[in-house]
Amino acid sequence: MLKCSICINDERITRILIVDGRPICKECKVFLEHPPDKEKIKKELEEILSKVDKAIVAYSGGKDSIVALYLAKEKYSIDVEAVMVDHGFIAPQAIKNAKNVAKYLDVPLTIIKRDYSDIFREALLKAKSPCRKCSRRTMEILRKYALKKGYRYMITGHELPFGHHPYRLMSGGIIQVRILSLMSEEERMKILKKLPVELPELPGYTSNCLILGPALQRFWERHGYSFEHRRIAALVRYGLLNKEKALKKVQKPEVPQWQWELVKKKLKLEDGF
Ligand SMILES: [Zn+2]
Repeated sequence: MLKCSICINDERITRILIVDGRPICKECKVFLEHPPDKEKIKKELEEILSKVDKAIVAYSGGKDSIVALYLAKEKYSIDVEAVMVDHGFIAPQAIKNAKNVAKYLDVPLTIIKRDYSDIFREALLKAKSPCRKCSRRTMEILRKYALKKGYRYMITGHELPFGHHPYRLMSGGIIQVRILSLMSEEERMKILKKLPVELPELPGYTSNCLILGPALQRFWERHGYSFEHRRIAALVRYGLLNKEKALKKVQKPEVPQWQWELVKKKLKLEDGF
């Protein structure tokens, strides 16, 4: 099987081309032809953040959103409110982390409870990724919350602008700022060490979601690879994650029995559904 010599993509995931005798995936080929201007992205990010006086932070209890909250409050001295959408499948330890860090940073925390069972049930039944639908719904709830409360900015822990801008205009005039643009995993871990956080051991590349592992396992059983492969390959391409760690993150996950039981019970799924 041909493997990209730059990222971790292979023939199962995308097209592999031979360029100057080297196997390179089509995403890496585009990246080499149009390399992102990292300095420009960083400058744009600093510029926009210098204008933000108050904002909500999209706060999931996952490690990236915790780092985002820390940076917004401590590095950029923004008057922030942490807003968490609890979709019912956030690991208890992640909720604990979210509360502890908000308290430690003296940031008000608002938790909005919503039921995403429809998205998660469908994803597991059809062996599909729930991530896009889940993220879209959460962003929409947060956007409406920001509008209602008179905020103009929403800061998120999305790690990458993927070669575009570190911010984007959402409908209603809310501006989403991706505060972690181009920040490596190592830099993020360094910040986490300063905070009252205990990361839970969960299958998949997540520090808060109980659905990702089971969904990845179902997808793996059907397709033989991870639906996160492309996203994780991009992190390697951008130099934000090393290959070895990335390859570990795309292996078939081992979902512990307790997690499967909990997810099946909450979603009312039969054994061997
Ligand atoms: Zn590649």
